[in-house]
Amino acid sequence: MKIFLPIFFILSIVFGCKPTSDKSNDTDIAVDITENQQKTNDFAIIIHGGAGTILKKNMSDEKESEYKAKLEEAIRTGHDILKNGGTSQEAVMKTIQIMEKSPLFNAGKGAVFTHEGTNELDASFMDGKTLNAGAVAGVTNVKSPIELAIKIMTDSEHVMLSGKGASIFAKEKGLEIVDPSYFYTENRFKSLQRIKDREKSELDHDAKAAFYDPIIKNSKYGTVGCVALDISGNIAAGTSTGGMTNKRWGRIGDAPIIGSGTYANNKTCGVSSTGWGEYFIRNQVAYDISAQMEYKNSTLKEATKDVIQNKLTALGGTGGVVALDKNGNMSFEFNTAGMYRASMGQKGNLVVKIYKE
Ligand code: ASP
Repeated sequence: MKIFLPIFFILSIVFGCKPTSDKSNDTDIAVDITENQQKTNDFAIIIHGGAGTILKKNMSDEKESEYKAKLEEAIRTGHDILKNGGTSQEAVMKTIQIMEKSPLFNAGKGAVFTHEGTNELDASFMDGKTLNAGAVAGVTNVKSPIELAIKIMTDSEHVMLSGKGASIFAKEKGLEIVDPSYFYTENRFKSLQRIKDREKSELDHDAKAAFYDPIIKNSKYGTVGCVALDISGNIAAGTSTGGMTNKRWGRIGDAPIIGSGTYANNKTCGVSSTGWGEYFIRNQVAYDISAQMEYKNSTLKEATKDVIQNKLTALGGTGGVVALDKNGNMSFEFNTAGMYRASMGQKGNLVVKIYKE
């Protein structure tokens, strides 16, 4: 007792003198830790089908139902896999493949056109357990770019392959090769013509603005992405896209860049991005969200909000992310008028949305 009293006295002086602001910081951190540690789902899945100028007034009821039905079909496919004990890798691939096969989204079948009237596809995948990753850029004849990205991860010593070499690799690995005309859709081709017409009429303006403004203001991006957490606690993330309409010179966006378009880490979260790729690359959007959780102890919501609403927006970037943390918390975050999106937790609670609330 004689020893404890002086120790107690010293401790009360040290802690009693701590400034109040420090105390409230401690409390904030404690709250964050609790939030981060709350398990909401043992398995879960979240997807996007692109963000952009998606407005109710420009969308027919029929089109809206088509989008919602396809988002639901895709997410249920992945959810069933997870529910039956399948891996997050399989869930992400199969979910994205449903959207790649649909002409509604700017990925696979519905890919947008390059300036030259071709389709160049990009995709990436990351495994949050091993931090392995695979990515592909600029392929023109591979039916499922997300499958190729996963194959590059599992069957090569590389992370990223591009163009012709990537096609040769896909063929060697037995992936489905299609004639480039498979990716032709009338709607996307018309979008290219519209943008080219506009470009011509705006030649006097600043070249960059003339090139990008019409794309940003008038097109719905439509990239697809998926993040899943499986019953073993493994997070996987994938993204697949045709890029941006009228792209040229072999332009590559964020979708195949690990850390920008896709990131997954079992310690933190998984992220898939969609939007104006150049800004997502410069902000390292997907990795930054994970890093904020790891280094700042931010919650998923805080991290996605800061990166999209503050950092991306400050540079002038537009778009959004879907993200899912190791505890099954999920987040949709975007700074555009809309984002095709859906989520499903372990109880089968389905959310499908398009516009801002
Ligand atoms: N991020 C994609 C790109 O820049 C486009 C998109 O998400 O719609 O290529």
